[in-house]
Amino acid sequence: MPVRIARAAAIALAVSAILALSLYAARDRGWRQAGAPGQTEKFSTEFFGTFDTVVSFTAYAKDASEFERYLEAVRDEMTRLHQQFDIYNDYEGISNIKAVNEAAGMAPVKVSPEIIGMLETAKEAYADTGGAVNAALGPVLSVWHGYRERATENSADARVPSYAELSSASAHTSCDDIEIDRGDSTVRLRYPDMRLDVGAIAKGFAVQRAVERARAAGLKSGILNAGGNVAVIGLPPDGREAWSIGVQAPGGGAGSEVIDILSLTGGSAVTSGNYQRYFTADGVRYHHIIDPATLYPAKGVKAVTVLHPDSARADALSTAAFILPYAEARDLMAKHGAEAVWIFEDGRMEMTDGYRRLSKAGKGAGRAVM
Ligand code: ADP
Ligand code: MG
Repeated sequence: MPVRIARAAAIALAVSAILALSLYAARDRGWRQAGAPGQTEKFSTEFFGTFDTVVSFTAYAKDASEFERYLEAVRDEMTRLHQQFDIYNDYEGISNIKAVNEAAGMAPVKVSPEIIGMLETAKEAYADTGGAVNAALGPVLSVWHGYRERATENSADARVPSYAELSSASAHTSCDDIEIDRGDSTVRLRYPDMRLDVGAIAKGFAVQRAVERARAAGLKSGILNAGGNVAVIGLPPDGREAWSIGVQAPGGGAGSEVIDILSLTGGSAVTSGNYQRYFTADGVRYHHIIDPATLYPAKGVKAVTVLHPDSARADALSTAAFILPYAEARDLMAKHGAEAVWIFEDGRMEMTDGYRRLSKAGKGAGRAVM
């Protein structure tokens, strides 16, 4: 996803996120912009290695060492939470989600307060979406993961899992069977064949925490973007009334056209799209967001972007808005005071009234068609 600092050279970012959010900041001229004495300058950088995506961070600071301080806070928190929420790798001295999965059906596992907090958010999202956002869907997602890997390695070997295989993997996939003991700070998965996959919310949770850490370190003005999970801090210090966030058309890759520009004065914008991770078999695209009701990729939506003050909530809601029928998704947004834009597979676009007010496209014809 390209993150662009307007009127400066584009900073090309090699990620596959679609309907990616690109950032514009008018009047900026590059990585570092000199300001008047005593004022802040703008610094931008990016790093890899967390949550399978590129993280770009822009902040206004007095000097490079102040910027470094904010960057360290952000990178440290993203790295720490990445290790905590990882389902594939072990880290020395860390009892992470992989460890919880491996202890399924056995004794409770002692975990960090962050894991407790994130899993509570996951259980809430499960209840709230009638099971559409399901962090206990691990066994089913793992079947899809295997087929996607195989197809990616060798496209001639691209196959689709049978319903029988998916259905047998889905035997124990209820978030009600995640037993959390907040007092003891432990988690236990009730059945041995249970597995957590926290991909739908972990990144948003981490972005929210990273922003809080940077704020605590003194950051007053900046933007954090972890592969389409964008959070803004304060306002630009140059007098503009909002940050401008570019919404890219789904599917176009790096040079993709910006289809909308959002004015954000706070909170987070999170995108879920069907072009992010997928494989193709017999000409059909199988993407990475699975509808627990069918056990196959959710149909109907190409991409959705959700705005909410809290990035963890926005992340959960973006996955929900992708899976749920539009009318239900819309009610869910209203319930949480979230705003959203949907781009459907047939090219139709719908937006909530609040999104429309913040959106350039929304101020145009009212209903844009791609
Ligand atoms: P992204 O990972 O691209 O930011 P999402 O936030 O929508 O997009 O999360 C998608 C990820 O969530 C998948 O890669 C998978 O790990 C997981 N996932 C897929 N389907 C579901 C589902 N129905 N409920 C919970 N998690 C899911
Ligand atoms: Mg999500």
